Amino acid sequence: MRIPENKIDDIRNSVNIVDVIGSVVRLKKAGQNFMGLCPFHQEKTPSFSVHPGKQIYKCFGCGEGGNVFTFLMKDQNLSFYESVKQVANRAGIQLPEFREETQDKKQYEKLYAVNEFAAEWYRNNLLKSQSGQKAISYLTQRGFKEETINTFGLGYAPDAWEDLVKAAKQSAYDEKSLVEAGLALRKSEQKTPYDRFRNRVVFPIKNEFGRIVGFGARKLDDSSQPQRDRREKDSPKYINSPETPVYHKGKLLYGLYQNKDAIRKEDMVIIVEGYTDVMALYEFGIRLGVATLGTSLTLRQAQLINRYTKNVVLLYDADDPGVKAAIRGAEVLQQANLDVRVVDLGSGADPDSFLRKNSKEEFMEAVENSQSIVDFYVSGFDDSEKQISYNEKTERIRNIIELVDSVSDRLKREVMLQEIGEKLNADMKSVFKEFYNKRRLKTRFIGKKEPVQPVIREALAGIDRLERELGSIIINSPGLASVLLESVSVDDIYSPEILQIIGFVKRLKSENRNYEPADIVGASGDLKLQKIIVDLAVDPNEFPLQNEDESYERLQNVTDDIINKFQERKIENDLNRLQEQIKKTESKGGDTVPLISQYHELLRHKNEVTHPQ
Ligand SMILES: [Zn+2]
Repeated sequence: MRIPENKIDDIRNSVNIVDVIGSVVRLKKAGQNFMGLCPFHQEKTPSFSVHPGKQIYKCFGCGEGGNVFTFLMKDQNLSFYESVKQVANRAGIQLPEFREETQDKKQYEKLYAVNEFAAEWYRNNLLKSQSGQKAISYLTQRGFKEETINTFGLGYAPDAWEDLVKAAKQSAYDEKSLVEAGLALRKSEQKTPYDRFRNRVVFPIKNEFGRIVGFGARKLDDSSQPQRDRREKDSPKYINSPETPVYHKGKLLYGLYQNKDAIRKEDMVIIVEGYTDVMALYEFGIRLGVATLGTSLTLRQAQLINRYTKNVVLLYDADDPGVKAAIRGAEVLQQANLDVRVVDLGSGADPDSFLRKNSKEEFMEAVENSQSIVDFYVSGFDDSEKQISYNEKTERIRNIIELVDSVSDRLKREVMLQEIGEKLNADMKSVFKEFYNKRRLKTRFIGKKEPVQPVIREALAGIDRLERELGSIIINSPGLASVLLESVSVDDIYSPEILQIIGFVKRLKSENRNYEPADIVGASGDLKLQKIIVDLAVDPNEFPLQNEDESYERLQNVTDDIINKFQERKIENDLNRLQEQIKKTESKGGDTVPLISQYHELLRHKNEVTHPQ
């Protein structure tokens, strides 16, 4: 059984897309619409638009678009049904339990299940097997207590090639799911898969809702045993699950699920470098740590943090790569409107060793005394001994100014520039000048190079201009859609996409339902077609009236114009066909006179259409 379509529309109508997206993306009013930074691609200037009048969203940067359900599916990896359920919950609408029908949901559930199974199996290996002992002793050597190991669900992958595969099969998990979940690898299609993680401590990675989506795995230094495989010996210290339908490393943060309540309560998050740093903090009662999964911080992760707190403390080494990582991280975090501070634990100290040598109180004091990113950058230089050259100073100013650009608040930017000038002992005027020069240069560059148009064109490229105009009006105006559909025959429309859209509109009309663009989007289960519908609904190049204050009258004129053009096109086609016929008849020596008179009749008709009166 499926959820009835009018029920879905009721649910969609019960929320405003601006509220739903606004809880994830910071939106700013721009005319009748809202703009923000796109959560689906990296950008510095907002090209993500939300249209309350049409109840759809559209990114002019990457082309992503749809209605509120599409957004939730994309943003949270939900199936269509789950996204409907979430909106219903939000609006307090009771939804009977429907059997989930989409393929996606089934696939996700399969992956979650096999990950759950593997985590449990790794865990049993750690706690109960003989070979798990060396992993236990490694962890105790590092000082981890049982409670921490349990909370993070750590496990051990034995030094074997197919133990997990065999165990999974015995428990009725198929090979395909194991490979899809990244737990096993295949040398070729025909071969039996083998275990990906071998002789490693395994860290299950949960998404923010607590589902296990992937694994990180640390090699055990095991010099006593001869290595069977040279490659094994040279393999990296940490490996992670590959990207799977449920595991996207740029969208996840290690430790967020375990710590999210404390992060929200304390209104602060501490970003550390690795899994064991998160665990070390946790062990000392500091439940605020999260770590990326072996990559640098992404905007998506910053936005994820933004759901829990605005205050971010970065914990990186004060060495050169540490400073660079902190500055890059700060840039991304500031783009998501987060406040960033940096903690310096002193030379070479990681949180783990610091906490074990000192105390929780001292650690929190260091956090308390965290520096602004400008301070942190400047304090990295030891200038007490030497005179720095003018060039070196300019270079430093340039490096740090780059960071100011990611701050969206103008006042905050000015304060930062002021701070840079003071800290680097530089002439304030030249700092400001440097910044605005750079910014101007960048905007000019972006303005020229931004691939906004090509992205939109791509989806619509296959559709004839006139049919795009028609599609745009029938999506946006139910009233004029009736006028257009009465005057233009579906036989005269070439594009299968536009024909499908007309089908949706006709169906909604036959059910006497008034619609807005989001309903047409929702009528199509095909994501590609959804994008085309969104493009037709909001693209200023397609829809002639962006401003709803403009008169209906003008829209009517555009409609009349479209009807005329369709008539013209039809006559043009008939003329071409007649011409062919005349040629054929002539070559066979037949009588062309009636055809020619028909031709002239049509030509006259065409003139009437193109030049009325
Ligand atoms: Zn985008």
